[in-house]
Amino acid sequence: MSLNPTGIEWTHVFGEGTGYTWNPITGCTRGCDYCYARALVETRLKDVYPQGFAPTFWPDRLRDVTPKQKPRGIFVGSMGDMWDLAVPQEWRDQVWARVSDCRQHVFFSLTKQPMVSTRHDNLWHTALRNIWRGVTVTRREELRPWEWPWCPAFVSFEPLLGPVCLDAEGWCPDWAIIGADSRRAGVAHNTARELGLAFIQGWIPGSEKELRADTPAVIGWGAHCEVHELFEPEHVDAVKQQFPEAVTIAHPECKPEVIAKVDISGSTKKMVDVVKASDAKQFMLFTECSMGDNLAAENPDKEMIRMCSHQCPHMALITLEDTLEALQKLQYQIELPEAILRDARVPIDNMLAIS
Ligand code: SF4
Repeated sequence: MSLNPTGIEWTHVFGEGTGYTWNPITGCTRGCDYCYARALVETRLKDVYPQGFAPTFWPDRLRDVTPKQKPRGIFVGSMGDMWDLAVPQEWRDQVWARVSDCRQHVFFSLTKQPMVSTRHDNLWHTALRNIWRGVTVTRREELRPWEWPWCPAFVSFEPLLGPVCLDAEGWCPDWAIIGADSRRAGVAHNTARELGLAFIQGWIPGSEKELRADTPAVIGWGAHCEVHELFEPEHVDAVKQQFPEAVTIAHPECKPEVIAKVDISGSTKKMVDVVKASDAKQFMLFTECSMGDNLAAENPDKEMIRMCSHQCPHMALITLEDTLEALQKLQYQIELPEAILRDARVPIDNMLAIS
């Protein structure tokens, strides 16, 4: 059975209110490094997909959707891209035939290959009305509506890896989704890479024991640092071009693509230690701006390149005066339920034990 209830919220808006995924075609050859489907196939679902992430047709799964079922919202092809260049048109034709037979359902289909789907797939030229056509966009350069003459019904920004302004592009989809994965846990991803462990984006209830037993992995919570996310790999390139002697250091909350380009990645403490111990004279820190000021004051013989304009708006609210007042009056305490405190202590104790 490949028709499974899913927590993907945007599939819940039609039919009986529970969304489903359906995967008569799986796999993809595109190789996006953030691909959640491939990560699942290589870890938790490797017994289900022993052939790996190569495009595969599962004809038996066509029978999992039937004209007699109650109306549902169904994400078809969630485990890959059905328009991958390696997917033959005959496979898709059989899926569209089933979609056509089951008009009570609303299907959603997403691709990163809008040109392939436009030129090579009859779906876009049929009168099928129970399928929403969507395209996945991760950054502005991929937002090319002129390539989509069929005008996609929806666009999924998942993960959204850079700023996109729909108005500026002169195009407005019927529906836009910003996926949870956009809040990628850079620090978890980078830590996994440093430790040589698998990275799983998002926590799947009940899966943690299985993952620990079979596949040591870092499971990233869907969160990010709004300051470190602003740094791009091109910024590192620009600094290296202008200041070839400078040592570049990035906080692990930066994007993995940024971490891959800098000389050193490390926490605030590591940055302090590296700058202090290094013989180099010039440094560029890819982290909150005030860190450069602090290190410049502590190391007057070394230059911190001041190209940073990413100040944390929340930390900037903390003033010496307010801190003094809070301590004097012992006010603004944050109170949390005991259950949260108990669970939160576990990772902190574990971290302290191994640090
Ligand atoms: S196109 Fe989609 S399915 Fe293919 S590798 Fe990229 S994220 Fe995964």
